[in-house]
Amino acid sequence: MIKFIKEKLFHPYDRRPLYKRLLGYCDCPYHKRKWFIYPTTIHMNSSYANEASNWITVCEDFYEDEIAPYWREMWEDYYSSRF
Ligand SMILES: [Zn+2]
Repeated sequence: MIKFIKEKLFHPYDRRPLYKRLLGYCDCPYHKRKWFIYPTTIHMNSSYANEASNWITVCEDFYEDEIAPYWREMWEDYYSSRF
């Protein structure tokens, strides 16, 4: 319950306004502005200097399908271009 509140309602890097957090708003391409989804604020495998930019508030399905593979690919390209 505490984890739910911290990750889904009051995460410091959640950029949604309070009423959207409380009502579980998800704006990902799967849900397209649906309510009561309760997305999670997840740390991405990115390395922006601004720490807040490394976090995204999105449902886990969209994260696993789109966001995580995106960063995996970015790092693969990065490392393969270095050697
Ligand atoms: Zn979603």
